[in-house]
Amino acid sequence: MENWITVMSFSFTHEAHMVKGYLESAGIETELRDEMAAHLQELAVAVGGVKVLVKESDFDKSIKLLKEGGFLKGVKPEKDIKIETVIMADGMDKKICPFCHSDNISVQKRPNLYTVILSSILGLLYTAAVFPSYKSTYKCFDCEKEWKYKKQGSIDL
Ligand SMILES: [Zn+2]
Repeated sequence: MENWITVMSFSFTHEAHMVKGYLESAGIETELRDEMAAHLQELAVAVGGVKVLVKESDFDKSIKLLKEGGFLKGVKPEKDIKIETVIMADGMDKKICPFCHSDNISVQKRPNLYTVILSSILGLLYTAAVFPSYKSTYKCFDCEKEWKYKKQGSIDL
């Protein structure tokens, strides 16, 4: 039996389905993992979202196809994503991108440093669920920026 490896992962199920459909139309077999968990957004963060898997022998071809299809454009490894900090002003509309004023944005919750440290000290898998110290991260689909809000004068963890 062949090994299946992750070719891309997503926070949202519909994005994974788009890539699955694209690869399958090119004749590549795919599998989705963690799809059920992704319906609960908090849990999706914990398991790393929805993964699209392909057979090991199809991996290189899949990457090439995804690049051609523009799916890998703007997709960066988690650690390379630069999250801007936006100082919150009175009356600021959080439903609009502060950079390009598009309303085509999404909100993601990421565990903050405090949660991660606490989890590793206590060794509890679901510490994050017990201590709800998630931070919301916003992403704009138009200008592809990511940001979080900060109250003026507050200490950022
Ligand atoms: Zn924007």
